[in-house]
Amino acid sequence: MAAREFDYIIVGAGSAGCAMANRLSEDRDVSVLLLEAGGDDHSIFIHMPSALSYPMANPRYTWMYESEPEPFMDNRRIHCPRGKVIGGSSSINGMAYVRGNAMDYEAWSRAPGMEEWSYAQCLPYFKKAETRAIGGDSYRGDSGPLNVSTGACKNPLYRAFIDAGEQAGYPFTKDMNGYQQEGLGPMDMTTHKGRRWSTAMAYLRPALQRKNLTLHKHSVATRILFEDGERKPQAVGVEYLQKGRPHSARARSEVILCGGAINSPQLLMLSGVGDPDALAALDIGLVAPLRGVGQNLHDHLETYVQYRCKEPITLYSAVGMLAKLKIGIQWLFTGTGLGATNHFESGGFIRSDAGVLHPDLQYHFLPMAVRYDGNSPATCHGFQAHVGPMRPTSRGELTLKSANPLEPPRILFNYMGTEQDRKEMRAAIRLTREIFAQSAFDRFRDEELSPGAQVQTDDEIDAHIRQSAETAYHPAGTCRMGTDPMAVTDGQGRVHGVRGLRVVDASLMPQIVSGNLNAPTIMMAEKLADAVRGRTSLPLSDAPYYVHPKWQTHQR
Ligand SMILES: Cc1cc2nc3c(=O)[nH]c(=O)nc-3n(C[C@H](O)[C@H](O)[C@H](O)COP(=O)(O)OP(=O)(O)OC[C@H]3O[C@@H](n4cnc5c(N)ncnc54)[C@H](O)[C@@H]3O)c2cc1C
Repeated sequence: MAAREFDYIIVGAGSAGCAMANRLSEDRDVSVLLLEAGGDDHSIFIHMPSALSYPMANPRYTWMYESEPEPFMDNRRIHCPRGKVIGGSSSINGMAYVRGNAMDYEAWSRAPGMEEWSYAQCLPYFKKAETRAIGGDSYRGDSGPLNVSTGACKNPLYRAFIDAGEQAGYPFTKDMNGYQQEGLGPMDMTTHKGRRWSTAMAYLRPALQRKNLTLHKHSVATRILFEDGERKPQAVGVEYLQKGRPHSARARSEVILCGGAINSPQLLMLSGVGDPDALAALDIGLVAPLRGVGQNLHDHLETYVQYRCKEPITLYSAVGMLAKLKIGIQWLFTGTGLGATNHFESGGFIRSDAGVLHPDLQYHFLPMAVRYDGNSPATCHGFQAHVGPMRPTSRGELTLKSANPLEPPRILFNYMGTEQDRKEMRAAIRLTREIFAQSAFDRFRDEELSPGAQVQTDDEIDAHIRQSAETAYHPAGTCRMGTDPMAVTDGQGRVHGVRGLRVVDASLMPQIVSGNLNAPTIMMAEKLADAVRGRTSLPLSDAPYYVHPKWQTHQR
């Protein structure tokens, strides 16, 4: 059977892929095929925000990756779930809506070929993507597909965290996605009327009404097809397995990889784009030598600082079966109550030291002491901050184990591989303890559950981190943009050395941003969709951003 032909083939209906599919199919005269390895998102556990720990651990919705034994983490393998369902990781994530710091994008834009990624150029796309429930302003959107709500902070512990931060000398920030990221304040979440607002809800469902967008679910792209081009190999299509049966489709204009920071470099290598020696060792024919594919892998590592709570006001009251049933029923019939929130309602960003230009530590506060992945259930009333360094300097790599596209790649992060990262992690724990020691917590604070009072010296903290720190689920950087020999893509995501092939997802980030990755990835897809369509970029924003006036000499 002849392969069907489309103008664009997008691989992966995740955060970036859904946004890209929506924007490209706005042009009624182009046809778009969207391939997604996973299936539908019809599950209460995906749509009910408070159920977030279920989908991330469910192989039905998740690529159950894990890292190689991590050499600086006591050789632990770290769980690395990625969404495998429409909406991708935005359907299984924690729903924290965080854009990163303006200066992350300023730093990107200083590298050759990256001039179009300044904050002034990114901010209009963050706004274009968003509708904030409480209204827009010069920073926040009011008419985009991605609905964003702000935490109500009804539980007094949320407010105690913000107040304790102020007592410790950190600023209050009313909008960490607006003018001022630095400080503690309420957090935003990608929810709408009490439901998770994944990119499947925001971008894909509306776009599927259009005849020019075709979605193939349960379809794993296994190889990009190339033909000899004028000067460079030309990507002309994709081979894929749909429910196990082989198919192919041809792309007249472009193949766009939106498979995420693990799968996009894997597919490039499987298709002959990568390190020539590594490909030769697996008998994969070389299409384009690009040694950077899969390199520059990095992620946010985080740790918990937990206390027992003296008052019975925490989410521990909600862990019993009967309580869960009540919460579920209220959520189902009214879309309100404890089921309607991700519970990350306050948090923020601080700098670990004087001389750090913008915050390098992030907080998610939770009125419960528990691991997010549900691995160790809460055993008492408690509260916690999840904290970690935002701009890790450790770098790992992603390589193929075999030429079999269904075999997971080898993933090595080298978490905590540098003294700089270890130093920031120690500061994270010490500064967090200082915040919790403030009088705002006197009413609530009981013994420290984790790391525990016995963990004090640098060596003790390092050992604690090695044994217990976990990922914030933000792998990035494996197809990074740039012009140097190790860059994989140019400033518009086009893969070097070939034509007709682009990557648009979190793997493009040259350096991970200081915050969670969903909103930045969507912003990148919005921005690059205009590039693919040949549209003029949105007008630059002139909105200023906050820099601590004494950052060189003051930590707070
Ligand atoms: C458990 C978890 C919690 C997180 N919490 C937050 C949070 O609270 N806030 C936040 O901002 N970020 C969070 N993140 C991170 C954020 O969601 C991701 O960084 C972001 O969604 C990545 O978007 P992406 O487009 O790069 O990839 P993804 O959204 O992962 O999309 C990739 C898609 O491509 C599909 N795919 C891959 N390979 C193929 C193939 N060969 N053929 C066909 N389809 C393929 C996948 O199945 C997937 O649907 C979290 C992530 C996880 C996993």
